Amino acid sequence: MQVKPYTALQFGEINVDRCVESEGDFFPPAKFFPMSTPERIDAERDWMEPHYILPKSQGGRLQAGVFAYVIRTARHTILVDTCVGNDKTRSFSPAWHMKQTAWLSDLAAMGVVPEKVDYVMCTHLHVDHVGWNTRLENGRWVPTFPNARYIFARTEYDHWMQEQEFAGLDGCFADSVLPVVEAGRADLVKTDFAIDDSIWLEPSPGHTPGHICINLKGGGKSALFTGDSFHHPLQVAYPEWSSQFCTDKVQSAATRRKIVDRLCDTDTYMLAAHFSGANAGRVRRKGDRWKLVV
Ligand SMILES: [Zn+2]
Repeated sequence: MQVKPYTALQFGEINVDRCVESEGDFFPPAKFFPMSTPERIDAERDWMEPHYILPKSQGGRLQAGVFAYVIRTARHTILVDTCVGNDKTRSFSPAWHMKQTAWLSDLAAMGVVPEKVDYVMCTHLHVDHVGWNTRLENGRWVPTFPNARYIFARTEYDHWMQEQEFAGLDGCFADSVLPVVEAGRADLVKTDFAIDDSIWLEPSPGHTPGHICINLKGGGKSALFTGDSFHHPLQVAYPEWSSQFCTDKVQSAATRRKIVDRLCDTDTYMLAAHFSGANAGRVRRKGDRWKLVV
């Protein structure tokens, strides 16, 4: 069965497209969402197949993607989250270790060469959201987008700076965040920072301490880029399911519930960082739960 592809959205003069680095099978649900059960997942198959979960006849696995959103306004070209990146040492993950993809050429094929990007916004500083912030040039990590301002929430940056000093992490802070700061391209901002009156941040802590969502409005329409507040549409149905990677699982669940309540039965698009296929959806009530409608 063909999964319906993503199609670019238009918000007045603002175009929202996405550039995919990878797409396919997601973590086994019991591992990723410790609170999940096969029965509760099956109860949502009616609206999740085939975009977000394959039919059982095809193995039934959850699906996810790693991609960046590309926002083009009349004045700016903006990237939201920059995937895993090439050439990065990620020994904890065979799929992400020393990756070689054509993501940058794919972005250029969309009309976005690196020099053209005005802003890079990271919803948070996990490894799969900062990778293309930098690229390897003569053995050094340099900002991939030489003219861009990179927008990092200060609370997020401070958290990982501290973690790096004490825990070492997976290396992504050192190779994909610090070189941007050292090159003078980063702006460490408050969690309500606005680029203009059509694009602004809001705090959504829990998955990470300084996680932000990004609001967009234009042409009488609106969207919320929810980053990893939600990893899979299952969490629209079950906002209480925090992932094993959430820093604060209780706060993460509370943030999700707040977002679901706010978006439910409105026309605001939810644009998450890892929903696969036709991922731009709107939240609708389904009994005493919720679902995403594309
Ligand atoms: Zn992620």
